[in-house]
Amino acid sequence: MFEKTRLKLTGWYLLIIMLISFSFSLVIYKVLTNEVERFSRMQQLRTERRLRSDFFSPPPLTADPDLVNETKNRILIMLIEINSIILIVSGGLGYFLAGRTLKPIKEMVDEQNQFITDASHELRTPLTSLRSEIEVNLRDKNLKLNEAKALLNSNLEEVISLQSLTNNLMDLTQYHKKNGGLAFEKLSLLTVINESVKKILPLSDKKKIFIKKNVEDYSITGNKLSLVQLFIILLDNAVKYSRNNSEIIINTHKTNGTIVVDVNDKGIGIDKKDLLFIFDRFYRAGSSRSKETAAGYGLGLSIAKEIINLHHGKITVKSSLGKGTVFSVSLFS
Ligand code: ADP
Repeated sequence: MFEKTRLKLTGWYLLIIMLISFSFSLVIYKVLTNEVERFSRMQQLRTERRLRSDFFSPPPLTADPDLVNETKNRILIMLIEINSIILIVSGGLGYFLAGRTLKPIKEMVDEQNQFITDASHELRTPLTSLRSEIEVNLRDKNLKLNEAKALLNSNLEEVISLQSLTNNLMDLTQYHKKNGGLAFEKLSLLTVINESVKKILPLSDKKKIFIKKNVEDYSITGNKLSLVQLFIILLDNAVKYSRNNSEIIINTHKTNGTIVVDVNDKGIGIDKKDLLFIFDRFYRAGSSRSKETAAGYGLGLSIAKEIINLHHGKITVKSSLGKGTVFSVSLFS
């Protein structure tokens, strides 16, 4: 598909260049042939005048009409040669430039196709299990009410999980599309952290995980909803990947106008080989790949990264397998 488009674009480049080149050649041809004809006419007049005034002196050389025609032909041939060279050179150059122009578009389309493939794959797996579960139970003529209720409960869980996947997908594409279009305001960092922690408390309480806040109330510039979502993602992961009765610590500090928030956990940690990829869409590190270990689709950190990019900030991670992880978020006041 792209080769076809590249050839089409090359054709358009060539058409434009050759139209300009032909127009210039036409003007050059007209000007030069007019000059040759004018020169020939002047030589003719000079000869006639000379002949009338001085009968005995030798006449100056007059322009030969054949020579004039030959000169015109030579100009024409030269212009055709120049245009042929322009056609060949601009053909090659146009093809190269068309490739360069289409490269970022091709990369974008490839990325989108990959995204659609990954998203469809993630949606297909739970939908297939949901369908087969319903079908098997519908075929069971002796299905009891309590069994049917258990089935509905399990189905509901799947639906809630699917809903969270589609919400994540929507968030990811929305943030990706925004491209700097978020409304920013002056915010209190403490308020943002408090709101995020409040949303996570039901989960951390369930696992008896204590969230400790050493947070200075710095003023930051950003979009409140998205920043709250960012810290919810980090805290949710910290809870998800920590054992019961552990601790999560949120620290803040300021260096050279940059406000840094660290989210520390004493959880399972991330293997070195996974660290490079955890911000990629749908990536789940080996230890968390199975949905039984921790629910998720590998989209949280990609959303976090999009939010950070919109804030022109930075997100980094340090981790030690089996000991814990620290995510550091840099924001501006
Ligand atoms: P998920 O829905 O799988 O949590 P994320 O994009 O939020 O998706 O995270 C990607 C992967 O990074 C996770 O699957 C997990 O392997 C790893 N990860 C993220 N945060 C932590 C953490 N605090 N501790 C250990 N592993 C983590």
